[in-house]
Amino acid sequence: MIPDNIRNIEIEKQYQIIDYDWLKLHYKTTVGIVAFSLVMECLMSLFFAQSGLIHTTMERYILKYIIVPSGINITCVLAETLIMKSKAFTQKQKIYCVSLLLVLITFVLFTVHSAFTATYYIFPGAIMMTILYADYRLTGITASLCIWSAAFSEILIKWDSDKITIFESSMRMGNFLISMIILIAFSAASMVVIRFEQKKNLASIRTDLERHQLKQSIQIDELTRIYNRKALDEAMADMEVQNPLEDHILAVVDIDNFKNINDRFGHYMGDRCLIEFARVLMEKSYNYTPYRYGGDEFCLLFHNTTMEEAVLMCEEIRQLTEKIRIEEEKEIRFTASFGLSAYSSQLNAARLFVLSDYALYDAKKDRNSVRVYEKGMKIAE
Ligand code: GH3
Ligand code: MG
Repeated sequence: MIPDNIRNIEIEKQYQIIDYDWLKLHYKTTVGIVAFSLVMECLMSLFFAQSGLIHTTMERYILKYIIVPSGINITCVLAETLIMKSKAFTQKQKIYCVSLLLVLITFVLFTVHSAFTATYYIFPGAIMMTILYADYRLTGITASLCIWSAAFSEILIKWDSDKITIFESSMRMGNFLISMIILIAFSAASMVVIRFEQKKNLASIRTDLERHQLKQSIQIDELTRIYNRKALDEAMADMEVQNPLEDHILAVVDIDNFKNINDRFGHYMGDRCLIEFARVLMEKSYNYTPYRYGGDEFCLLFHNTTMEEAVLMCEEIRQLTEKIRIEEEKEIRFTASFGLSAYSSQLNAARLFVLSDYALYDAKKDRNSVRVYEKGMKIAE
């Protein structure tokens, strides 16, 4: 129902949660119907026994109207309970099992009580319970089985000895035909409802996707196509509220003497350097996320990484940066400096940034180097 290119987004997960809540209600309704019919059956048998309306032996009556139908229905409920609790079934399989077992329960109740024409109404109930899943196949199968069950029961089964079959009474035949038409019309109407329900779901998913894409686009740097400062701010804010605290290391990276590149080779070539540098950062981003903070300054936010590993990674990037060559201007060479510091519960995101900046300032003394923040490091007045 949902096109593959827009799968796996938040709203689809929410639909699954709603479907699961409905499935629980569907299951509970089934249990309720079986329990209610068992109680009613017992009360009716008492009433009939006292008023002498039973035309057969009491044992036979109890077997036909209580033991056999309730036995089948309780078995269905037990099967449903096991399926609902089992982890071996997917949510979709559980939905199918509960829906189809409800048809079986409905069939049993109808067969036993079809002397009362009103019992036809229990079939639309079983169909209606499937509409919310907005699955054509499920509602189609449920509706077809309901129609066949009603017809099969009326034409081939004579459970109730008092019952006049549809072939013995034109009134009953009329009721049967009208009920069939109503059941078929109800099934068709259910399909139409599902069609509109699906349209509505698709529109919500599209809106959600657009919102998701818009959010992505405002967090992407236009020149380098990596995350921008806004995305970094969000990641740092997430880091601050994380509980338990994961290991985070922030590396602030700045290209050395970048102004000279702009001055010597022009702004366009400067841009090309930034793009190539960002490409290297992306290529190596196994244990960090790269961001362009602004200008020639970048940040790497390491996740669950030790300082040794982060330093080694920055060293690797530093060496790769020396090797970057720009297709259109082979002469261009540039390097970068790195300042690192580790996040801890005593720091906030702003302070982490300041400490990494101190380390960067220290690295800039030599340029083309990697430094880790140490106590006492600061930016000269
Ligand atoms: P240092 O080694 O101390 O970092 O020297 P630097 O020349 O790199 O100095 P700084 O980092 O302060 O200079 C950054 C320069 O980057 C200044 C600005 O002209 C240039 N710049 C900023 N944004 C862009 C951009 O989008 N494209 C280009 N081509 N240049 C940019
Ligand atoms: Mg610079």
